[in-house]
Amino acid sequence: MPILNTASLADLRALNAEITLVGAGPIGLNMAVALADRGFRVLLLESGGEAADAQRQDLSADHVLTPDHHYAAHITTARRLGGAGGLWGGRCVPCDDIDFQPRPWLGLEGWPIQKDDLDPTLEEACSLLGAGAPVFSAPAPGVQTTSDRFQVDRLERWVNQPRAHVKHRDRLAEDDRITLALNITVTGVELSQTEPGQTEPSQIAALNLHFHTSQTTGQTSEQTTAQLPVSRVILTGGGNASTRLLLNVQDQHPDLFGGADGALGKYYMGHVNGQIADITFDTPALHDALTYHVDAHGSYVRRRITPSDACQQEAGLANVAFWPVVPEIAKPAHRSGPLSSVFLGLTLPGIGKRIIAEPIRLRHCGPGPYARLPHLLNILRDPLRTLSFAPWFIYHRYFAKHRIPGFFLTNPARRYGLEFHSEHLPDAASQMRLSSERDATGMRRLEIEFRYSDKDVASVLKAHDEIETWLRAEGLGRLHYRYDAADRADGVLKEAIHGNHQEGTIRMGTDPKEAVVNAMAQSFDLANLYVVSTAILPTSSQANPTLTALQIGLRLADHLKECCHA
Ligand SMILES: Cc1cc2nc3c(=O)[nH]c(=O)nc-3n(C[C@H](O)[C@H](O)[C@H](O)COP(=O)(O)OP(=O)(O)OC[C@H]3O[C@@H](n4cnc5c(N)ncnc54)[C@H](O)[C@@H]3O)c2cc1C
Repeated sequence: MPILNTASLADLRALNAEITLVGAGPIGLNMAVALADRGFRVLLLESGGEAADAQRQDLSADHVLTPDHHYAAHITTARRLGGAGGLWGGRCVPCDDIDFQPRPWLGLEGWPIQKDDLDPTLEEACSLLGAGAPVFSAPAPGVQTTSDRFQVDRLERWVNQPRAHVKHRDRLAEDDRITLALNITVTGVELSQTEPGQTEPSQIAALNLHFHTSQTTGQTSEQTTAQLPVSRVILTGGGNASTRLLLNVQDQHPDLFGGADGALGKYYMGHVNGQIADITFDTPALHDALTYHVDAHGSYVRRRITPSDACQQEAGLANVAFWPVVPEIAKPAHRSGPLSSVFLGLTLPGIGKRIIAEPIRLRHCGPGPYARLPHLLNILRDPLRTLSFAPWFIYHRYFAKHRIPGFFLTNPARRYGLEFHSEHLPDAASQMRLSSERDATGMRRLEIEFRYSDKDVASVLKAHDEIETWLRAEGLGRLHYRYDAADRADGVLKEAIHGNHQEGTIRMGTDPKEAVVNAMAQSFDLANLYVVSTAILPTSSQANPTLTALQIGLRLADHLKECCHA
């Protein structure tokens, strides 16, 4: 079925879809393919069009109350076909066994599912995302350690094509079981009772649609809203937009989703990330093992340094990963021509924002104004390396079979920034709620209060103590703090800013008072509503979340196939 830019209500009704997906980002698109593979007729409704559009993007301009720790909401999402697939790095990392377990040292109870429940979906998830085979560890050649307090063999895999709608273009155009309707925002739901005599609504009968183009509803050409009867609904609108939709539904039906005291919108997490120290490597083996490379399993990979379960338990840590990064490119003191050329490229007005996603650009370059002259001098001092770097990088990024995800320029001193990527612990005070302001479709916007707690900071500091002790004891390297001990906690908070990973606000659990969806990602309250999103993850792991969210979706797809097509 071709992509429908201007579907009418009559078109959509005629499809009689078995499953309606709300949102065509990486999760919605991959779920559509996976459900079609299992024999379902699916309708995928997408708020955006094929290209970016400022008015449509404004629908995501939620109000951030904590700008020191959360990027502006409209730059962490994309209201267009493909969603944040055009922004994301494409790192795929499965959650660790320890994430699913109770962790008394953190006061965490564990997930309602186990890693074993998701493992059978890993191969399909990697294949759908285009991240090669599901291989997530590889020994680091030549690195010998006496203690396993930290591991250096854990891999992150990078997708070869981050935009799911490009990867699945042919499939979307040819598969009669998938219909993708663009320019339609789902603004709410109509509820119905399932049992005679039942007083509480317990099913979604229809979705409220807002048509953004002139095809409208098939009734009058001026009418822009309509109701589409649905059978089963899976929300795949991204973490923040899905939470916002459910909060708008709760606004109409205050008892749903645990009511005002329930979990919906609370426990908002991302990651605690940044750099408070540099690392120098004492052995070439570990240094060489930590660069990007294409492995034998079909995509770029990179090793992370991670603490063992025992280390996390004994030191009272949240889950965390470390990796080295190039020196801060914005600081010309690195004297590297290639790094300065990257800085100049990323700060070119109108160009930089097209090269990488704005949150990543801001992390590397800061907000401006920019002092460019010292960077020009670096380039003039280092012309040969600069000239050879640019064509090499452009080829590997845009033309090679495997897309290089970033750059990691080695230096003879083997000194780098040490990036920490720590689990952000769930805290009800970190939350999103409805603001009084409405967007162009009439939906109430979000007010985002994204908080890091003292526990988050303490864990990051303790994790640095642990890795430093281990590196020294093994003779592998040393840390060089950028802050005095007394200022390090402030340093963590100065660094940490997120909003990209959007986790926790529709959390999965066993108790409807403390969660919104059950272990199968199904709403406790509305039997034909499911949510497949990073927002359902109850804790945030050290892992980036998209792969895990898709794995949960594939488990749901198998379950639906079993119960509907048995
Ligand atoms: C800069 C950046 C870097 C990132 N890097 C990584 C990474 O390396 N690894 C990783 O795992 N994750 C990463 N992420 C997170 C990743 O992008 C998201 O987890 C992923 O995009 C989620 O996919 P999704 O389909 O659930 O949501 P989205 O990508 O947000 O897509 C949702 C779609 O739903 C549509 N929509 C929203 N509301 C409605 C509605 N009411 N009606 C109809 N349609 C609607 C939107 O227009 C959009 O197209 C990154 C994010 C950012 C911003």
